[in-house]
Amino acid sequence: MRSRSSVIVDDIIKIDYPADSLFHAWRDQIDYGKIEHLLFTHTHYDHFFPEDLYNRVEGYSHGCASPLHIYGNDAAISQTYKAVPARSERYAFHRLLPFQTVALGSFRATALLADHNPLETCYLYYIEKDGKALLHGHDTGWFPEETWSWLEGKKINMALLDCTNGQLTTDKRERNHMNVETVREVKRRLREGGQIDDQSQLFATHFSHNCGLHHEDLVRIFAPDGIQVAYDGMVVQI
Ligand SMILES: [Zn+2]
Ligand SMILES: [Zn+2]
Repeated sequence: MRSRSSVIVDDIIKIDYPADSLFHAWRDQIDYGKIEHLLFTHTHYDHFFPEDLYNRVEGYSHGCASPLHIYGNDAAISQTYKAVPARSERYAFHRLLPFQTVALGSFRATALLADHNPLETCYLYYIEKDGKALLHGHDTGWFPEETWSWLEGKKINMALLDCTNGQLTTDKRERNHMNVETVREVKRRLREGGQIDDQSQLFATHFSHNCGLHHEDLVRIFAPDGIQVAYDGMVVQI
């Protein structure tokens, strides 16, 4: 069963805050009080429910004196600003521009352009720490050329790739969301570009129920490609 989309890195960075965040916390015993940085990819409802961040306000939540640093595009930041007591010291807002790099404690995160909602500047994130890099690659279709250019010369130890359309479509450069063939083509290009090697881990994720594929089906489909299939609650090490 797929719940709405989010990833946590080393307990302190959360990518996206969907309405299922409370469910995730209960299911996986997550302490959101430890989260210091929240990165929004875009404001589609399966990634974005800023009203719930109100729970962090003084007098309601306890033991989280430092601000939650919130990053995203104009839409994500302005909507979150309206949804919470924005002047509270519990929140700090950071509007990101495409290809801007910010320091998140000992991490660095760069917002890369996605090809997704044409009405919004949607972001992928390249997150680095201690010489290792994670590419959070959804929601997006085939990456825009500006993003491919930025990735030149970069290394990727782990990539999470949009596979919304499964085998419903077969375009190798699908727009807005990817499918199995586009994920394979992204792997091929990353390999050709030297961003990934045999040690790099690739995960397909964000599958639509409309694909009609179960987890086992996707595992079988991607097995020959050396691409792993993500599932809710999955924990991996870089
Ligand atoms: Zn989306
Ligand atoms: Zn989505």
